[in-house]
Amino acid sequence: MSKPKIVILGAGYGGMMTAVRLEKELKAEDADITLVNKHNYHYQTTWLHEAAAGTIHHDRTRMLIKNVINTKRVKFVQDTVGSIDRENKKVALKNGEIEYDYLIVALGFESNTFGIKGLAENAFAIRSVNTARKIREHIEYKFASYNNDPDAKDSDLTIVVGGAGLSGIEFLGELVDRIPDLCKEYDIDPNKVKIVDVEGMPFVLPPFDRELAKYAQNYLESKGVTFKLSTFIKEATPEGVKVQKKDSEELEEIQAGTVVWTGGVKANHIPADSGFETNRGKIQVTEDLRYPEDDHIFAVGDVAVVFPKDAERPYPPTAQIAIQEAENLAKNIKHILHGEKTEAFVYKPKGTVASLGEKQAIGVVFDHKLTGKPAAAMKKVIDDRYLLMLGGVPLVLKKGKLNLL
Ligand code: FAD
Repeated sequence: MSKPKIVILGAGYGGMMTAVRLEKELKAEDADITLVNKHNYHYQTTWLHEAAAGTIHHDRTRMLIKNVINTKRVKFVQDTVGSIDRENKKVALKNGEIEYDYLIVALGFESNTFGIKGLAENAFAIRSVNTARKIREHIEYKFASYNNDPDAKDSDLTIVVGGAGLSGIEFLGELVDRIPDLCKEYDIDPNKVKIVDVEGMPFVLPPFDRELAKYAQNYLESKGVTFKLSTFIKEATPEGVKVQKKDSEELEEIQAGTVVWTGGVKANHIPADSGFETNRGKIQVTEDLRYPEDDHIFAVGDVAVVFPKDAERPYPPTAQIAIQEAENLAKNIKHILHGEKTEAFVYKPKGTVASLGEKQAIGVVFDHKLTGKPAAAMKKVIDDRYLLMLGGVPLVLKKGKLNLL
């Protein structure tokens, strides 16, 4: 009898961890495993704000997939997924197709501009290595041009960040570290640089403890960031953004050389476009992460939505949850192949830390609130722990943030 074919779509946190765990859970004779991803590398999305600001090189955020998985056990196919044909158990790729017996959808997130006029065309989003690299190069170009281009304006040095959630705040933290270096490099008076964050809520970091969120806001303000809270971006133009304060009729224009939108994400469009039943674009899975209408399809990470037992709100889209889902799913695939009962996914929160640049952060870890350097050190521990889970000590030594060598 031929071995069942397991196909994993996407090599982000969810897909990579599923592949690595399946490698351990299954014997070679149990199944053929294939991982499909559009790039030949896996990247750490949670580090992209650093690459976007230019505080780390983008190569630090990525690693070749073949260096992390055992390619004798998991076949890697570099290709772009086009659609999923559930009826015929096939996935259409840009350069062919692939058949599956079990399918794991881990295609992650896309930026959500909520239909705000001009945002898709005139703002950047921190979404992938390539988008992060583009932001870094754009900001650097604006600074490099300032003293050389006769048409350069002061507003070319203004950076608007849309959104003050985790990725927006973390990006601001990197920017306030990076700008002084850029000013030195390009002989620019730091007083000419403006960083403005526009957030619709009346406070920053909505899911965080209020005291910690205020700490983050105060720190960033002390470094020159202006927050426009209870304010909405109404339009982005080549010249900047038009914003409107809540309960006001007036539009204010902020001229800016760079606009970075971090205000929302949505699920990858492929499942919905392939006819999956979705909940706001996400595949709503059962407690063992299975698509209810097809026993052979599973979803993990930002493309999936899981409701904790008896809860009204689903788990949020985070890397931490994608990783834990992947661990649960690999075990469940083994159970299924061995005719055993599957285990429900239960998220075990270990805490969340938001970095504010290299040396500052805020967070809650095992119910303890942390700020400043201890929080920044904890963030690096979290980052390195993932590398340890994925590729062991060699990967931590190669890519890790704690200077072990
Ligand atoms: P992704 O990481 O999005 O991976 C999806 C993969 O699928 C990618 O490799 C992509 O290239 C591939 N892919 C997509 N489409 C196709 C296609 N058509 N064909 C082939 N391959 C495809 N979460 C935290 O828990 N903690 C944090 O501190 C944190 N910080 C963040 C900071 C930033 C700047 C951002 C943007 C997000 C942050 N998040 C954080 C959220 C976290 O990054 C996501 O929840 C996580 O990346 C989801 O993992 P995933 O595996 O579902 O998807």
